[in-house]
Amino acid sequence: LNGLFLRVYYLSLEFYMGRTLQNTMVNLALENACDEATYQLGLDMEELQDIEEDAGLGNGGLGRLAACFLDSMASLGLAAYGYGIRYEFGIFNQKIVNGWQVEEADDWLRYGNPWEKARPEYMRPVHFYGRVEHTPEGVKWVDTQVVLALPYDTPVPGYRNNVVNTMRLWSAKAPCDFNLKDFNVGGYIQAVLDRNLAENISRVLYPNDNFFEGKELRLKQEYFVVAATLQDIVRRFKSSKFGSTEVVRVDLSTLPDKVAIQLNDTHPAMAIPELMRILLDTEHQTWEKAWDIVTRTCAYTNHTVLPEALERWPIDLFQNLLPRHLEIIFEINRRHLERIANLYPGDHDRLRRMSLVEEGDQKKINMAHLCIVGSHAVNGVARIHSDIIKATLFKDFYEVDPHKFQNKTNGITPRRWLVMCNPGLAEVIAERIGEDYIRDLDQLKNLLEFVDDDSLIRDIAKIKQENKLKFSAYLEEHYKVKINPNSMFDVQVKRIHEYKRQLLNCLHIITLYNRIKKEPNKNWTPRTIMIGGKAAPGYHTAKLIIRLITAIGDIVNHDEVVGDRLKVIFLENYKVTLAEKIIPASDLSEQISTAGTEASGTGNMKFMLNGALTIGTMDGANVEMAEEAGEENLFIFGMRVDDVDAMDKSGYDAMEYYNRIPELKQAMDQIAGGYFSPDQHDLFKDIVNMLLHHDRFKVFADYEAYIKCQDKVSALYKNPKEWTKMVIHNIAGCGKFSSDRTISQYAREIWGMEPTPNFCIYLWLFHKKNKC
Ligand SMILES: *Cc1c(COP(=O)(O)O)cnc(C)c1O
Repeated sequence: LNGLFLRVYYLSLEFYMGRTLQNTMVNLALENACDEATYQLGLDMEELQDIEEDAGLGNGGLGRLAACFLDSMASLGLAAYGYGIRYEFGIFNQKIVNGWQVEEADDWLRYGNPWEKARPEYMRPVHFYGRVEHTPEGVKWVDTQVVLALPYDTPVPGYRNNVVNTMRLWSAKAPCDFNLKDFNVGGYIQAVLDRNLAENISRVLYPNDNFFEGKELRLKQEYFVVAATLQDIVRRFKSSKFGSTEVVRVDLSTLPDKVAIQLNDTHPAMAIPELMRILLDTEHQTWEKAWDIVTRTCAYTNHTVLPEALERWPIDLFQNLLPRHLEIIFEINRRHLERIANLYPGDHDRLRRMSLVEEGDQKKINMAHLCIVGSHAVNGVARIHSDIIKATLFKDFYEVDPHKFQNKTNGITPRRWLVMCNPGLAEVIAERIGEDYIRDLDQLKNLLEFVDDDSLIRDIAKIKQENKLKFSAYLEEHYKVKINPNSMFDVQVKRIHEYKRQLLNCLHIITLYNRIKKEPNKNWTPRTIMIGGKAAPGYHTAKLIIRLITAIGDIVNHDEVVGDRLKVIFLENYKVTLAEKIIPASDLSEQISTAGTEASGTGNMKFMLNGALTIGTMDGANVEMAEEAGEENLFIFGMRVDDVDAMDKSGYDAMEYYNRIPELKQAMDQIAGGYFSPDQHDLFKDIVNMLLHHDRFKVFADYEAYIKCQDKVSALYKNPKEWTKMVIHNIAGCGKFSSDRTISQYAREIWGMEPTPNFCIYLWLFHKKNKC
């Protein structure tokens, strides 16, 4: 029963939940009853579902992971809470206007949100600014500005286990007396108008994926969620301990036995100095005691090695907004560096590298370093990524504390990403191996028994074709485009980012186009290539990549020689609900990041589970997917991490590839010469210049291998039976990528608890026994 009464707090600035209605029905086994009931009322369940707005409180993989984890934690019966911000505006809606991305505000709460319940009785104050007084009675943070944090609770039902957990999202509310203290003539109206300033904290999600933007409002958001959440955690700890409110002082030294705080990236890193502040300044613990409690309670998940994504906050911002926390961080750093100096006398460069404070024109706090020092566990999100952080980004830290570093390969919830979005496939699987695989995804390996079974091959191919027809109809209705449902659906959906290399996909499209034009009568494998994803509004290159994709589509799709052998579609406004529609209809999944750049990926797993084959590099979780399904069942190509590292040393010369490979040269010359932008020949000059002269992600170095690999994909697609057998090997190898497995490992190896799926049954028996 170890850990039965441990509470897990998953702190995240993002929860990319999508819709809730169908997920609730699936997890509560109400889907058939609701279908029947709505039918009798003359309503159609699917139409009703389509009215629901996505809760788009996330950017991409990191936010969706938090949402999958909530489902798995509830389904495994863990006493877990998700804590985040109730953004009034989630990730923007993407419109494509004349081929360009245009952002529109996501007013998702306009018609209300039936899944949430405001809990004003649990409102908490959060302090900002002010100054620090060191008095004989202790440290005081005074003259602060207060913003109230109002919690909204959303239920998180487990899969058919009678557990319902809570996601608690905080909304900012100005106090009644906000700006009214120095009230003067004419000041009242202004003071009421200024309430907006405080309430702006929870106004909008920052739309950057894998990119750090050092804005004060963002730092306010990060501290806001942390400060409100920690008050909740401490209150709940104290009240659960004594079951009453009369106890004035409760010792927090057993906190780490009862509470685990998981930090989803460094975004909630302020939990570390904030918990220190509570323990030191309000609980009056010694530094040593407080530090022991903090480090045993907190754990940190790293999500990226890209330097532009790492949070480094300028000290001036901190000094102004959170002066007491800055003092605490300095003291954490002083003690940390003292320890390192003792271990490595005279190694000043190491102290500089490992410091929480980065020197330079502008001093900055390195939040990842703060998280490592303040946590008992640090994990990467796929094996290769966890190895990379130990060898590069956090090498020095790994050397002094190797026991802290772990791997937790990401996963996805099979409820949303199979049962809900692909009921046909879920049913075909259940007919062969029963339904238990939905809780225990490893059982998918039992499908291997049927890999040569013609009836299974037929059923799987049939479901895929049905999904493709359904998606084609959806595209025609909502996007007014007609596609050939018998073509291969070749799909790359994810945030638009140079490291994800949508440009490599573009070069393949142009190459195919040129080949078809050259030999129109050859037996080409028809493809519909679909690319979707949002670009951060301030990311110029990413927005230009979208423009390039739409421009290529405009030329290719209207070329009569090409016909329906090749179509290029940009899928507008990719989000969770669109993922649920496109992924079950995909044949080929594009996972083609430069080796060493994609920490894990989770889109890759969704496609694999839904019967698409993967073309991908040995990056992120692709490596483990190949291991689980057999490398011969994926289309793996290109440089490995070691090759990329070697090339970084020897130098990457894009011009050499350009001059040597005629098809690459032709494609680049077309982009550069205005073939795809007849009205503005130099439209793509920034992309061309980048690819030729300063491409950090080495697109050309993988071009040849990618094209050859795509040729193999096309050849196999001509043999539907062999293709579908390979699909079955992939589905059978998916077990590892359930977020239930991921969460079980977090529970055992980081939180120190045994997941107990029968927790409720146990509690119920316990309750009965004691009652009677
Ligand atoms: C799963 C998911 C992602 C993450 O995709 P990657 O290919 O792993 O980057 C991003 N956005 C949405 C809407 C998703 O569902």
